Amino acid sequence: MQPPDARRDGRVNSLLVSSPSPYVVNVRDLVHRPGEMRERELDFGAPEKLGEGAASVAAGEPVHIDLRLEGLHEGVLATGEVDTVAHGECVRCLDPVTLDVQVDFQELFAYSPDEAFDFVVRDDQLDLEPVVRDAVVLSLPFQPVCRPDCPGLDPVTGERLPDGYERPVEQDIDPRWAALEGFRTEQDSNEK
Ligand SMILES: [Zn+2]
Repeated sequence: MQPPDARRDGRVNSLLVSSPSPYVVNVRDLVHRPGEMRERELDFGAPEKLGEGAASVAAGEPVHIDLRLEGLHEGVLATGEVDTVAHGECVRCLDPVTLDVQVDFQELFAYSPDEAFDFVVRDDQLDLEPVVRDAVVLSLPFQPVCRPDCPGLDPVTGERLPDGYERPVEQDIDPRWAALEGFRTEQDSNEK
């Protein structure tokens, strides 16, 4: 719940260092209570861009997380499903692409630092940021396309190719090979 005067434009003021990360959840009521379970929903605008590739989740993009927190003997198990939207550019035709991102994660946050666990409970809190970031970034395509059969652009004219267009495969011989072809023919005929 946000107060009515909360910023609604999703922008992040980098000077507000003390403002808590929306990825941080308090688990005081679960700590050292094995068997206890809580479900929470987190909704916030991404404080920072997620992903550096051809598709990414922009800063300010709404992020929804269905979160389940379970107290275990060695720590708190966080299981979640992230819903957000990534934007990119079709690698074939350069049209903007919007991708629904829906990705699961599960991570144990240990009570004591231990080499077996990558994450720990600090001050009765879990910082889900690296876990969510990894899950989201790994789910983003390296080469987004606007649709699987996008024909792309004509390499010569730069115009969009018609639907169903099939690139001619090795129909046009590279000029360097063409020259070689001629050379070989000449040589062959000389030998005769
Ligand atoms: Zn395309």
